[in-house]
Amino acid sequence: MSDCLFCKIIAGEIPSAKVYEDDLVYAFRDINPMAPTHVLVVPRQHLASLDAADEASDETLAALLRACRKIAAQEGLSNGYRVVSNCGPDACQSVKHLHFHVLGGAQLSERMS
Ligand code: 5GP
Ligand code: ZN
Repeated sequence: MSDCLFCKIIAGEIPSAKVYEDDLVYAFRDINPMAPTHVLVVPRQHLASLDAADEASDETLAALLRACRKIAAQEGLSNGYRVVSNCGPDACQSVKHLHFHVLGGAQLSERMS
């Protein structure tokens, strides 16, 4: 998608702080971190949100979750972490390219909302 921010980041057209990559997934630090570790994990394939999961292969969907786990280990989040994907207006999704937030490095709030 030519006008998608995260597609441009994946293509290297917009700089990012890379944390992890493989054939299916790219991950980079959030520009506005909400925790000491805040990484965004995105599929290389443009998918607007989790609502488009049926357009992705099972391999891609599995790779995203495996990447979250690997990044948590790589970042030393041995005491725990949170994985969040905002989907649609009620969840305040601001970038329309599927992404998982990996958050950790401090005690996170009990509240999920
Ligand atoms: P959402 O609100 O869609 O769940 O999450 C989008 C995330 O993308 C936000 O946490 C925001 O800080 C992050 N973000 C927005 N623009 C950029 C950018 O240009 N670079 C990086 N690294 N993160 C961005
Ligand atoms: Zn995109």
